[in-house]
Amino acid sequence: MTTSDRQIAQWVEETPFVDTHEHLIEESQRVSGRTDQWLPCDDWTYLLSAYVAEDLLTAGMPAADLQSFFRPDLSSEAKYQLISPHWDRIRHTGYAQAVRHTLRGLYNEDDLTAESVPRIAEKYRATVRPGFYAGVLGLANIESCQVNSLQRICMDTEQPAILAQDLSILEFCRCSPNDLASVEFETGKRPTTLEEWLNIIDFYFATHGPRAVAVKCQIAYSRALDFVPVAQAHASRLFLHHCGKVRHALGPDDLKALQDYLFRYCVSKAGEFGLPVKLHTGYLAGCGSMQLARVRNNAADLCQLLQDFPETRFVLMHIGYPYEQEFIALAKHYPNVTIDMCWAWIINPAVGFRFLKDFLLAVPANKIFTFGGDYLAVEPVYGHACIARRGIAEALSQLVAERWIAREETPDLIQKIMRGNALRFFPNMPRASAS
Ligand SMILES: [Zn+2]
Repeated sequence: MTTSDRQIAQWVEETPFVDTHEHLIEESQRVSGRTDQWLPCDDWTYLLSAYVAEDLLTAGMPAADLQSFFRPDLSSEAKYQLISPHWDRIRHTGYAQAVRHTLRGLYNEDDLTAESVPRIAEKYRATVRPGFYAGVLGLANIESCQVNSLQRICMDTEQPAILAQDLSILEFCRCSPNDLASVEFETGKRPTTLEEWLNIIDFYFATHGPRAVAVKCQIAYSRALDFVPVAQAHASRLFLHHCGKVRHALGPDDLKALQDYLFRYCVSKAGEFGLPVKLHTGYLAGCGSMQLARVRNNAADLCQLLQDFPETRFVLMHIGYPYEQEFIALAKHYPNVTIDMCWAWIINPAVGFRFLKDFLLAVPANKIFTFGGDYLAVEPVYGHACIARRGIAEALSQLVAERWIAREETPDLIQKIMRGNALRFFPNMPRASAS
């Protein structure tokens, strides 16, 4: 490491991140230990539930063993026995490295071993106390987070000063039976006409729009991102079939048309409220289900939307991995596109590093956010931030060493890409200090 490298690494260490994407559940649920779908067990294995579990499965761990691993009633020793043959296979992946950084930084433990696991189990329990979210984020030098709750369409958080919230539009535009049930659970309403459904969407925007930080949609998990204009009268008829008093299942083309209409309606509403639209792009979490041909078309599919809503600001998440060069092209060409590197550093740390170098030489530096942990648990956000900081420092160091940028320019660049861009871009982001 040269003196210049060390200086750049220190600037990156000292600069707080504005974290633009998490799925953190509320701290009070973690402290209460109340288990549910989003907190299947309240012990150290929770830190491995996203995303290490997926690497374990693809490495060959039987699904039944993985299920047992997250059982709330199994001892730590038994859990370690289940994971140990597979841990060695995955320990170098970004997902596992984020956990190892977390064990080191939060628990002062180097690794998962038969010997360390009982101590790690104890340290997990000792950490989960009121105020520990602020403690972990402080240790990671993160000043605030944006949370896309998976439990509520827009979470009424107990900690608005550090956990800004996205308004999810997924339920409104995907319109699956589960989505309708979620909306009914929250509002008591079961729409049978398009007009009633739009009134509900309007209600959510009126209620949450003024304080939400953005709208968020991960519909790319279930369909392509080619949203074309659809006439309201046509959408009305389709909605009657889909949700009216006499229901018929819509075929794939009709469901797509209904979703196209609803998605574009939500994008218009977001524009009305000045809210950016965050879209999942690229790689899909999970195991054994990704349709790569559809993922490959994400960037090209989005072009019409970007042209039809030139005033709406779109945030394309996860760098579209593994098609990240196409997302550099979108951000370079379209004024209304910003790229978020959330999740990307742990999907593939080496690609994150190369992407940032490429991006900074092609796209204006105000069009990127460089960190979002994308976790339900707050603890591994720490480890993910370690990997991101290393990648950012090394990308900038190389750009300086290769004489693409001057070392004197890097402090300003670091400020922009780690926090300043996000603070300027998101209207309702809490401000920890003057920026
Ligand atoms: Zn996410």
